[in-house]
Amino acid sequence: MSINLPLRLAVMGIGKIARDQHLPTIAARNDVELVAVVSRTQRINDVPSFTTLNEAFEHCPDIDAVVLCTPPVGRHQQAREVLISGRHVFLEKPPGASLAAVNNLKELASESGRSLFVSWHSRCAAGVAPARHWLADKAVKSVKISWKEDVRRWHPGQDWIFDPGGMGVFDPAINALSIATYILPRPFSLSKALLEIPANKQAPVRASMHFADLNETPITADFDFPHNNGECWNIEIETDSGQLLLTHGGAMMLINGHKQDLTPTSEYSGLYDLFVDLIRSGKTDADVAPFVHVADAFMLGERRLVEPFSW
Ligand code: NAP
Repeated sequence: MSINLPLRLAVMGIGKIARDQHLPTIAARNDVELVAVVSRTQRINDVPSFTTLNEAFEHCPDIDAVVLCTPPVGRHQQAREVLISGRHVFLEKPPGASLAAVNNLKELASESGRSLFVSWHSRCAAGVAPARHWLADKAVKSVKISWKEDVRRWHPGQDWIFDPGGMGVFDPAINALSIATYILPRPFSLSKALLEIPANKQAPVRASMHFADLNETPITADFDFPHNNGECWNIEIETDSGQLLLTHGGAMMLINGHKQDLTPTSEYSGLYDLFVDLIRSGKTDADVAPFVHVADAFMLGERRLVEPFSW
């Protein structure tokens, strides 16, 4: 499909990820251009700002695509509005608040001939593609995922994270699942989980999960919001040819303890490369595999109430 570049983008939801990653990444590229923001509270200098999508489309009819950086609850309605208006849509992860909602969007994108991008930024980390390549011809014996980050440091004041649909510790942990579902050669499924939920909240602050793949390979995951220390973003994979360790959220890879040389990458640059390519080729990329495991955890997991959470 021939498209006019730069693509004219609107970004909706001017919070942490929009400011930390999307706005600088868009500003640094030639193939995309920020022409509007949609925000209930924020303004960006020299960029037309609107409080609703409808207003933005009315005043800037040339918007080609919208990047949704809002929390998962509410995204379905926003994405629906974007696709119905005839524009392409980029969803931050997690892609929505329910599986059916995301699947419905896939259908709508196909009906309207527009691209839907369910983005997984951690899959663009430097070690992820090399890890997938290395694992492709190995027999995996076990996998241990440890993904722990201080919620007060990385998500300060984001009350929505503990609300229904906010997913609690799965908000960052879905990044680990996005890597695991991409690099492991066999699909896997959940056998049991424990969700620890603060007595005053709706979503877990910790979760432990046990999966197995089609060869019954054990895969365990520990997800936590530790206070002060103990942060880590690791995936350890034992194979018939030794150990592969992805650390720093996938940015570093060690094989049998030896650090591998990786081509430096920017996760968000990688996402915008994919988004522009999708639009150019008239395709949709809506892989919900990581999201399925989170939904399964809520369906199958044992719940334990723990001490109340406060910021
Ligand atoms: P955030 O700082 O809370 O920003 C979200 C923004 O969405 C808010 O600032 C607000 O912007 C808008 N919004 C619309 N409806 C809202 C509502 N009901 N409650 C709160 N905000 C609402 O969150 P974030 O960290 O940027 O995360 C947004 C999404 O990006 C999440 O899905 C998250 O998983 C994903 N993400 C976050 C990170 C990260 O490091 N923080 C990394 C990768 C992906 P306006 O005032 O402009 O309307």
